[in-house]
Amino acid sequence: MAQTKEFKAESKRLLDMMINSIYTHREIFLRELISNASDAIDKLYFKSLTDDSVGMNKGDFAIEIVPDKDAGTLTISDNGIGMTEEELENNLGIIANSGSLKFKNENEKTEDVDIIGQFGVGFYSAFMVARKVEVRSKAYGSDKAYVWTSSGADGYTVEECDKDTVGTQIILTLKEDTETEKYSEFLETFRIKELVKKYSDYIRFPIKMDVENTRRKSDAKEDDYSDDAYETYIENETLNSMVPIWRKNKSELKAEDYNSFYKDKYYDYSDPLKYIHSKVEGATTYDALLFIPEHAPFNFYSKDYEKGLQLYSSGVLIMDKCADLLPDYFSFVRGLVDSADLSLNISREMLQHDHQMKTIAKSVEKTIKSELSKMLKNHREDYEKLWKAFGIQIKFGVYDNYGRDKDAVEDLLMFVSSAEKKLTTLDEYVSRMKEDQKYIYYCAGDSVEKIEALPQTEVLRDKGYEILYLTDQVDEFAVKVLMRHGDKEFRSVSEGDLGIDTEEQKEETKKLTEDNKGMLDLMKEALGDKIREAKISDKLKTHPVCISSAGQISLEMEKILNKNPQNEKVKSEKVLELNPQHEIFSVMQSLYEKDKDKFKDYTSLLYDQALLIEGMPIEDPVGFAQKLCSLMASK
Ligand code: ADP
Repeated sequence: MAQTKEFKAESKRLLDMMINSIYTHREIFLRELISNASDAIDKLYFKSLTDDSVGMNKGDFAIEIVPDKDAGTLTISDNGIGMTEEELENNLGIIANSGSLKFKNENEKTEDVDIIGQFGVGFYSAFMVARKVEVRSKAYGSDKAYVWTSSGADGYTVEECDKDTVGTQIILTLKEDTETEKYSEFLETFRIKELVKKYSDYIRFPIKMDVENTRRKSDAKEDDYSDDAYETYIENETLNSMVPIWRKNKSELKAEDYNSFYKDKYYDYSDPLKYIHSKVEGATTYDALLFIPEHAPFNFYSKDYEKGLQLYSSGVLIMDKCADLLPDYFSFVRGLVDSADLSLNISREMLQHDHQMKTIAKSVEKTIKSELSKMLKNHREDYEKLWKAFGIQIKFGVYDNYGRDKDAVEDLLMFVSSAEKKLTTLDEYVSRMKEDQKYIYYCAGDSVEKIEALPQTEVLRDKGYEILYLTDQVDEFAVKVLMRHGDKEFRSVSEGDLGIDTEEQKEETKKLTEDNKGMLDLMKEALGDKIREAKISDKLKTHPVCISSAGQISLEMEKILNKNPQNEKVKSEKVLELNPQHEIFSVMQSLYEKDKDKFKDYTSLLYDQALLIEGMPIEDPVGFAQKLCSLMASK
């Protein structure tokens, strides 16, 4: 008797969930087991293409289903690659996709957690219908076979067994029927046929089952239609059509077919926002089936996420995640490409340089781009959903590769604008620009609320000019790379000249600057190299001062870049701007005449105050507090 081994803790929990599952779609266990069988056959078939010693042809591979009502068992067999003793241990003793469990932990409260639908837990789903599972397997190239047996959470055993042929046989002893739960339905021919059609129709290898049919006896009399004229016989039927959905005619397929294919294959619980089925013929010929998910997978913005499309060559899977088929800014797209032009024996390294591959990748990218543009134009709500889920990724595209791809994504970008605080595209912004408006204005900050409170946005909003509110860290970097949209330049509200002054106003500012030169110079002297200069501002309305930046690095960039401890600290070149209309301005003017020391203290207070409004740290908080206190204490 083999020793019973315990499942790894994580697996045990998942197993528990499966066994006690109230999951309504327990029928999917069959799909999961058939998919595993098909993957195993894929592996051996792929080997057979380059290695004659496998001795199998495509037509030899099959998956077999055998229901046995007397024994209460359902057996699923394949002649795929099989598993060694270690593989049985490692593959079936440990949960493959621990992502599902992470998710479960975070969502402990939700009832009937739909993690099966979301992630697919594969093999373990067998325990939703079976009280005992036996996996008999002989690996390709091995002369011994082993059986893995488990009746659930107690553990499992692995022992040597007899099995002549290479492959895997999974024997499920179904749970007993209860009043409410009928497990025996999975032994009914019609039910099995229905499930295979529903979930596994496109599996490339035949899924066979012995089916009882009736036919006329060969010696039946011509006019005899009684029962005696008929006989039953057993036929080994292939239950699936084996045509992958992407190879079918579009006219044969309904949205539902695409959506359920997507959900099953990519473990999503919601329909995709869009499916794209393209059949391309020409220099390169391929079928592509692409999906735009509605929401980001839980690991999308982590290092774990791997982008890529499945790559098939004439229906044979040659790579599961072919990254070269998708640019990073479309990394959220799921799907597959099937092309007869690609060689089966191509290695990963060769694929990267393959001319056909590059052509396909270009064309896939174009397709996605044009479909997204259409969605933006015709299905705005969907597009905004997409933007919320994947906008950041698309924005990365602007400055990735040193801005080489910025044109590809520019028209797909959206930002929140001060007009109604809604998302807007750059084209839309430009179309609403006032006649005398020179620039596309933007302001970067942590949130829309914080940006709106910034002193330097007041005057522009007063004039009815829209401002783009850049609240994602990538935004300002992206805008800097873009520089302009069409013939309109971007201009930060915190940087230099906003181009809003009339000649008269410019003259006035110039005069004010000349008249107050001594005062402005002393401010600069008081603040030293903290600022580049102090100047008269045209941006301010109700606030006395603000800080703007003069160099390449903006205030917001300084904040963002310095957040990362690995970055060398950067410093923006700051300009202290003064509002000549504000009463503080005259206070400063008179102090400049009367009390230079106090003037310097006030300058430093104003500077720190402007930093605080910008959400930037002040260098000497204690000094700031002391100055403020002494001011409050002064009569
Ligand atoms: P997944 O299929 O998502 O990897 P499963 O839990 O369904 O997770 O299966 C775990 C692993 O067990 C598979 O990755 C595969 O290596 C192995 N396996 C399962 N079924 C078979 C089979 N019929 N033949 C060969 N290997 C199998």
